[in-house]
Amino acid sequence: MNAKTRCSDCVDATDNSRPHALSSFPSLQSLCQYTALFGGSSARREAENNLAKTFVGGVFVVFAAVAAYAQGPMMNPQPIVPSTGMHAILLGTGCPLINPERATGSTLIVVNGKTFMVDTGWNSLVRLTQAGYQHPGVVLYTHFHSDHYDGLGQVFINRGIAGADQPLSVISPKGGKAVIDAVIASLAADVGYRKAHHGDKWSDEAVAADVKEFDEGTVYDADDLKIIMFPVDHHPIEPAVGYRFEYGGKSIVISGDTVKCDRLIAESKGCDILIHEAMDDRMLKAILPGLTKTDPRRGAMLTELIDYHTPTLQVAEIARDAGVKKLVLTHLVPSIAPIDAAEKNFIRGMAEIYPGPIAIGRDLMTFTP
Ligand SMILES: [Zn+2]
Ligand SMILES: [Zn+2]
Repeated sequence: MNAKTRCSDCVDATDNSRPHALSSFPSLQSLCQYTALFGGSSARREAENNLAKTFVGGVFVVFAAVAAYAQGPMMNPQPIVPSTGMHAILLGTGCPLINPERATGSTLIVVNGKTFMVDTGWNSLVRLTQAGYQHPGVVLYTHFHSDHYDGLGQVFINRGIAGADQPLSVISPKGGKAVIDAVIASLAADVGYRKAHHGDKWSDEAVAADVKEFDEGTVYDADDLKIIMFPVDHHPIEPAVGYRFEYGGKSIVISGDTVKCDRLIAESKGCDILIHEAMDDRMLKAILPGLTKTDPRRGAMLTELIDYHTPTLQVAEIARDAGVKKLVLTHLVPSIAPIDAAEKNFIRGMAEIYPGPIAIGRDLMTFTP
């Protein structure tokens, strides 16, 4: 953000035209958001005034230290999608083998500014803050491979620090409550420290979840938004589900982890955007013989991995058969570098099967149906 950009978070609700004087400093824009987290506009004003005095007093070292502290995580001071309509933001496009440039399993659907985070994989909270949101409104899970939920602990603790006093709303397939309770239990020591430190100011509800488990069907129906959960085939992992979001005559489908299956094609029929997992099985099969020879155990594990994800050419068949208007690839296996040459190679042959637009997902890409 350049020095002339207005920090919209800092503008009085009654005055949308005037930026704060100090918000022209990029690090202070982060400070402005950080203070917003705690106390709204009055806290922001006070922080600015205090910093201004420090600056005028010439204690630049202190100024810099406070600004650096305020910088904190890589936060975006405002959402990267409009506050009206339905949008998708890819928060994690990788898979369990760590690639620092791709967080794991997570997609954010934003409807009129309300956030629905489908899965909370590794580093997804960092991406969420980069997308301009502190924590999710509602969390939905597709299944419980840890690359889809191991950012949940961070979500809880950040909610607590941000002063949340209501439990996190979670929509899940069967079995989710037990997993989420285990994550909460793993935070017991941390929560204990914070309660001892902050007393009544720390809310027990911050690290708590209101989990609603479903088999399938409509799992959310409010404010003209309908969310439908449907089973997919990620055998032997069960249950595993996908979601269809419908709002304003538009639809976005998220596949979750799956192989090609009839139900997914049926639920994707005519959707505006299908966000589908994808595996370049040709790349994996090319390394399989050598790996099997040198390390039979890992060779067998790679064979089993190939068995429960969708090869890219089959993803193209799904998109074609369902007549989707746009295909977005995520959960890339392997987690290739986000560079054009690697991505072009990843999707080779797909355009001959599916004639519509294909986007190879990168973290923080946004899509609007
Ligand atoms: Zn999985
Ligand atoms: Zn996965």
